[in-house]
Amino acid sequence: MPELPEVETIVREIAPRLEGCRIARAELKKTDVLRQVSKQRLIKTLVGNTIEQVYRRAKHAVFRLSSGHRMIIQPRMTGSLLVYDRPLGRVELKYVVLICTLSDGRKFVYRDVRRLGTIWLLDEPGWIAYTGRIGPEPLEEMFTPFVFADRLRGTRTAVKKAIMDQRRLAGVGNIYANEALFDARLNPAKPTHRLSLEEFARLHAAIVDVLRRALASSGTTLRDYRTGTGERGRFQFELRVYGRGGEKCVQCGKKLVATHKIDLRQTVFCRSCQK
Ligand SMILES: [Zn+2]
Repeated sequence: MPELPEVETIVREIAPRLEGCRIARAELKKTDVLRQVSKQRLIKTLVGNTIEQVYRRAKHAVFRLSSGHRMIIQPRMTGSLLVYDRPLGRVELKYVVLICTLSDGRKFVYRDVRRLGTIWLLDEPGWIAYTGRIGPEPLEEMFTPFVFADRLRGTRTAVKKAIMDQRRLAGVGNIYANEALFDARLNPAKPTHRLSLEEFARLHAAIVDVLRRALASSGTTLRDYRTGTGERGRFQFELRVYGRGGEKCVQCGKKLVATHKIDLRQTVFCRSCQK
């Protein structure tokens, strides 16, 4: 968390407010979120640079700068990305990790309560190498059932684990993996190489569908996730299995099973609907 729909929601909201803006000042309050970059190099790169484009790749918010660098923020469980037209209050300043003051005085802020998120800075070749190692984007037109089957077929691992592996498929985490497997009527523990083409096609359709519906609801807020305007998502009201272990299956009425055996994360499924 957050997964594709949440990061896409944030990015769609903040992109029009940041693209084309020059960063006049940058201040990093906490350094433990940094990966592959020092505080000094991050600040030096940001100041005077222009944010050309803000977009999503997998579960990352990507800020393409006019220098060709990519600042990559993965907000994870407790992070949020917001743009302020006014000075921040004392409470808002709490948990701030990064503040970029734009040349028009507005502020782009990355807050993170528990600092589980990360900031990376990559140059153009570094970014090309990195993005090349991530799997296809499920909401892109080129993501067909054949592309999907081709990416997954080679592994014997449990299908739930395989669709959450970012090298095979971008953007899907625990919530939407659970939901898609339920919608596709597939047992999450089934070894991936044993899926038939028909099952790959069903799972492909279920993944695309659940991500689209979650995006239309601005994502799932269980705890700290907020959109780029500080709102809660609404997809938590539409979850059919995630977080519902022990409750009744919406299809057959039997008790949903919760297990940690597949990948240490909680998997919830229906034994009778997902054979
Ligand atoms: Zn059922």
